[in-house]
Amino acid sequence: SSFDQMGIREDLLRGIYAYGFEKPSAIQQRAVMPIISGRDAIAQAQSGTGKTSMIALAVCQMIDTATREVQALILSPTRELAAQTEKVILAIGDFMNVQAHACIGGKSIGEDIRKLEYGVHVVSGTPGRVYDMIKRRTLRTRSIKLLILDESDEMLSRGFKDQIYDVYRYLPPELQGIKQFFVAVEREEWKFDTLCDLYDTLTI
Ligand code: AMP
Repeated sequence: SSFDQMGIREDLLRGIYAYGFEKPSAIQQRAVMPIISGRDAIAQAQSGTGKTSMIALAVCQMIDTATREVQALILSPTRELAAQTEKVILAIGDFMNVQAHACIGGKSIGEDIRKLEYGVHVVSGTPGRVYDMIKRRTLRTRSIKLLILDESDEMLSRGFKDQIYDVYRYLPPELQGIKQFFVAVEREEWKFDTLCDLYDTLTI
């Protein structure tokens, strides 16, 4: 299987190859297609298997760069993961001019406001800071069509559930009907039933 066969846009393919990837990893082969074809998905993959790049790929494929509005929101349990995801999106999305911003605690709020008001396609952040930006109306949610909860098992165990729900309430109604929703978990011991329960828990 190759990236060429996945229906990925040309300028994104160029970015993927320029980044040094030659063929999709197993998780990328399995999860990218369902997400870009608009299905909800749950994927389980451990660190180092290409999960972050898979999220970056799906997100870039979904973005319409003709408008500068936030179209994809990725929530992560840690600042490091949120920043890493932003970095990979900017790298592989370079040829398509994707604008992404990491909304993470501990960084300047002024910088968040400047970037978001300038206009970005993707926000990758931690739940608290993202909610703060939404409440200030700096992060506009009306064009969001893809929500990704990365390492949602970890987010739940860190007590982020209420904050995720706070964010969720501000998302467009189509999304609240869970059209485009993606949960990534890391723990290998989790079985499919557990994943489905987790999904139910998070989608309220
Ligand atoms: P990730 O799980 O996305 O953080 O990826 C783990 C490591 O594998 C990173 O160094 C990625 O750059 C690399 N990687 C991810 N996907 C691929 C791929 N399809 N081909 C080669 N390397 C990859």
